[in-house]
Amino acid sequence: MRQTSLSALILATTVICVSPNASATATQRPTRRPHVPPTLLTVPEGTRLLVVAPHPDDEVLGAGGLMQRVHETGGTVRVVYLTNGEGYPEGVEAEEHGGKTPTPDDFRGYGRRRRHEARTAVEALALGDYKSTFLCFPDGGLCKLMRSYWSERRVAYRSPYTRLDRPPLAERLVPATEFRGEDLTQELAQIIGDFRPTLIVVPRKEDQHSDHCAAWFFLADALAAVRRVQPDYSVDVLNYIVHFYSWPFEKDGPTLDPPPHLSSGPSGWLTLPLTPDEERAKRQALRRYQTQMHVMSWFLDGFAKSNEVFSKPASIDVVLPVRRDLCDEP
Ligand SMILES: [Zn+2]
Repeated sequence: MRQTSLSALILATTVICVSPNASATATQRPTRRPHVPPTLLTVPEGTRLLVVAPHPDDEVLGAGGLMQRVHETGGTVRVVYLTNGEGYPEGVEAEEHGGKTPTPDDFRGYGRRRRHEARTAVEALALGDYKSTFLCFPDGGLCKLMRSYWSERRVAYRSPYTRLDRPPLAERLVPATEFRGEDLTQELAQIIGDFRPTLIVVPRKEDQHSDHCAAWFFLADALAAVRRVQPDYSVDVLNYIVHFYSWPFEKDGPTLDPPPHLSSGPSGWLTLPLTPDEERAKRQALRRYQTQMHVMSWFLDGFAKSNEVFSKPASIDVVLPVRRDLCDEP
């Protein structure tokens, strides 16, 4: 499908984000920032929260506590998963127990399993009439959609894992959706336009997983699309971060401190202290991601702390597609 208003190629930003495989060496690490205590994040009553998760588990890692707080203060929570998290060969091989090379069916099955885990994980947070949506876009391929597979001018992107080039029909919000950048923007815009969240949380563009970086740009582009038809719509946007060098494992302890080498942005860092019950539920939710606990429990446990940290973006003025890569891919 084609979106005429986004058809011009516009280089909107020079921000570069890197993948987790892209030489995250100590020599390239940014300078440590002066420590400024985070500001307490307060959650207004009746908040309508949309959590954008590139993969199943990111919603709990980044905002498992915030989702509970929104529900406890009379709000509504919705999660949109951009991918099923299926493009993880090491995880698929670990599940197969035989060391054989995974087939496209294995990757699709792994994605279905992660979706099931997502449902059981969020149930552990007891969010009432919570709703989730799986867009089923290609894990590991989101950055490519921003530049190389934007529109109908070329064939849709085909996942090297599942060999699919579009979401299953039953999962498409827009029937003609294929693995193209403008299609992902439109699906996100439809969710935002229908739900009209008052708060959106999405990964920061500096997140070093290329799908996480891309999630930020697609969210910003979708917000612009919504505002073209609903000019009075406004929303607060918060960023969370999951992959950034060795954070948060440089420092042990009960709290989650902001990454010391990353700018807090104009808002300064924001922290949401969790109650013991919220922290316990977040930990239980993470444990329901059994496929991920199987291969990287240490990573998930690193986010099960007594608080969560967020920041606000400096600007959400992004127009896709772009001429050059915003995310360095493996
Ligand atoms: Zn992720």
